[in-house]
Amino acid sequence: MTRVFNFSAGPAVLPEAVLRQAAQEMLDWNGSGMSVMEMSHRGKEFTGIHAEAEGALRELLAIPGNYRVLFMQGGAIGENAIVPMNLIGRTGRADYVDTGEWSQRSIQEARTYGTIQVAASGKASGHTAIPPQAQWTLDPQAAYVHICSNETIGGVQYHWLPDTGTVPLVADMSSDILSRRIDVSRYGLIYAGAQKNMGPSGVTVVIVRDDLLGHALPITPSAFNYQLQAEHDSMYNTPPTYSIYIAGLVCKHIRANGGLEAMEEHNRAKAKLLYDCIDGSSFYRNPVAPADRSLMNVPFKLKDESLNDAFLKGAQERGMVQLKGHRLVGGMRASIYNAMPLEGVKALVAYMQDFERRHG
Ligand code: PMP
Repeated sequence: MTRVFNFSAGPAVLPEAVLRQAAQEMLDWNGSGMSVMEMSHRGKEFTGIHAEAEGALRELLAIPGNYRVLFMQGGAIGENAIVPMNLIGRTGRADYVDTGEWSQRSIQEARTYGTIQVAASGKASGHTAIPPQAQWTLDPQAAYVHICSNETIGGVQYHWLPDTGTVPLVADMSSDILSRRIDVSRYGLIYAGAQKNMGPSGVTVVIVRDDLLGHALPITPSAFNYQLQAEHDSMYNTPPTYSIYIAGLVCKHIRANGGLEAMEEHNRAKAKLLYDCIDGSSFYRNPVAPADRSLMNVPFKLKDESLNDAFLKGAQERGMVQLKGHRLVGGMRASIYNAMPLEGVKALVAYMQDFERRHG
């Protein structure tokens, strides 16, 4: 069996130990004689799996007791509508910070549900930097302030926490959740699709402070009503059971391997290797302001873009896949989530240096 180094932006690489355990348990989970896929979501086996997944996630992120953890469906794009439907009702207005493609998608979707103000935008820099808080114009009447903590396409990431006063901070953490320690108590709500650092696609994690429940607009579909989901322990409708199971295994795996502190250190080391390689050459280029660079998604361009196909082909031949940049920006993108081993980044850097020697 050969495993490649998979630099996909998501669905993405998962810890091999987790995949092996899932394979082993595929036909018979824990002596139940059933696959997790075959279990009733209301049976004792699955309710146990669900509780363990939530427990491991709570422990990793040190989620305070006044926050609910919901396992939902619809992905982060679904949440772009579900968040305003549930939260904007309090005042009818919300602030959004535009840091690139994904926050723009959130802004666009939210406009259907209330008055949306763009409180700050990275547009002037071509979204190569996070606008500093001094440039934000916050509306004290906003029901919440929305940010995207890591722009998966542009490769910019917050390395500081905005101060929104008493207005709840809402973050799309799809592409950096579990990659570093965070202080959940500073957020009103966090959402993330699982398919980068947490597990397979199909489950969206929502971590929401108790007092934000109960303000849903009347048009909110019941399956997307946070309060209903919280009251039913995410079982108002059938939850994505298998994805929750794998997310639980991933959380336990991280816990057994040093938790988020260790993840953060590992992710910093990988990102440094790659950015040092890019910055040390005139052949490769990353446009993002160094202070705002993502530790998860590293977009880069070759000086001579006519070499792109040759670069990708050579990488593929060496077992490195999914390096092609997002269609909106072109070039390359290396996503180096938690489960990407250091060896994968070392192999990429060695290949990049070799490619530069041959073509530079
Ligand atoms: N937000 C961010 C930051 C993302 O990276 C993505 C997916 N790449 C999305 C939202 C959309 O997620 P989904 O397609 O699962 O709805």
